[in-house]
Amino acid sequence: MEITTPDTLGSWQTDPQVLDAELERAYQYGMDARGEGRVATYIPELARADEDAFGIAVMTKDGTTICRGDASTRFTIQSVSKVVSLAMALKRFGSQEVFSRVLMEPSGDSFSSIIKLDTVSNLPYNPLINAGAMQMIGLLATECGFDDLLDYTRRMCMDDDIDLNEAVYQSETDTGDRNRAIAYLLKSKDVLPADPEEVLDLYFKMCSLNVNAVSLAGLGLTLANDGQNPLTGEHLLSPRNTRCVNSIMFTCGMYDRSGEFGVRVGIPSKSGVGGGITCSVRGRLGIGSYGPALDDRGNSVAGFAALEYLSRALHLHAFDYHPYIEDGAEA
Ligand code: GLU
Repeated sequence: MEITTPDTLGSWQTDPQVLDAELERAYQYGMDARGEGRVATYIPELARADEDAFGIAVMTKDGTTICRGDASTRFTIQSVSKVVSLAMALKRFGSQEVFSRVLMEPSGDSFSSIIKLDTVSNLPYNPLINAGAMQMIGLLATECGFDDLLDYTRRMCMDDDIDLNEAVYQSETDTGDRNRAIAYLLKSKDVLPADPEEVLDLYFKMCSLNVNAVSLAGLGLTLANDGQNPLTGEHLLSPRNTRCVNSIMFTCGMYDRSGEFGVRVGIPSKSGVGGGITCSVRGRLGIGSYGPALDDRGNSVAGFAALEYLSRALHLHAFDYHPYIEDGAEA
C-alpha cells in the first residue's frame, strides 16, 4: 500500500479537527481494503456477518470519541476477550502464578493450533492463543463465575451494554470440537487449573460477548492509560500488569501476523475472528475497529489497512522516528 501522509505530528493532540480528518482518510483506506478478505465461516453464526461492513472509533483521554462507518454495530468480541481474561487473571492471581500456567512467547502458529502443545511444550506459548486463554479462564474459574468476567469486561471496555450473544454462544458450543481437544489435552497434561467443561463453557461465553468498535476503543484506552479509566478514575489493572498485557499484545496479539503488524503498525493490538481489533496507543489513544472480512490468519483486512494509515499519519508507532529526519536519512 502506498501511503502519503501530511505532517501532523503534535497538532492532532490539540486539534480534534486534525484527528477527525485523519480518521476519515483511515476509514477510506479500510473501505478500499475490504474486498481482500473473507468472513470467518468455521463458526456458522459468524458467517452471517456483512462482509462489507467497516467501522472505526478513536477515544481520547478526555472522553472525546470520534467514529466512522459501522462503529456502533454489535458483533462478537471473540479473541479480543483473551486480553480481558489475561488482565483479570493478572489482577487476581499476580504474574508469578499466571506465568506458571502459560508462556509469553509468540507461537508462530494459528490461534487454535495444538501441535506445539502436544510436541514441544506442556504449557501454551502465550495467553492470546486458545490454549493460553483457556489456562487463564481455568485460573479465573477457581474463583469467579461468568457474571464476574462480564462485569470486568464491561468496565475495561467502558461499556455497560456488553451482553451475551446467545446465538453465537450456541454456535460455538455446537461446533467447538477443536477447542474441546485443546482443553482435554491440557487436562491430560495435568496443567489445566479447572474442570475442562467448565473452562470451555466460560471460554465460549467470553468469545460470544457483543461489543462494538467504540467498546474496543474503550478497552484500548484503559490499557493505554496504565489500567485506569481516565473518565471515572477507576483503577482496573495495575500499571505493571498493564505493561505486561500491552507487551503480550504487541508480540502476540495479531495471530501469526503479529510480527508484520508490529513492523507496519507498531501499536499493541488484539484482533478477533468476529472482525474486531482493539489498539492501545500508550498514554494517548484507544482505537477500536470492526470489519468482518478477514485475512488468511484471522485479522480484519479493513482494520489492518486503516490502522496502518493512522499509525503513519499520526505517528503512533511505538518506535516512530521524528518525521523531520526522514529525508536524506535512507541509510
Ligand atoms: N471463539 C473462537 C475460537 O475459539 C475465537 C477465535 C478467535 O477470535 O481467534 O475458535
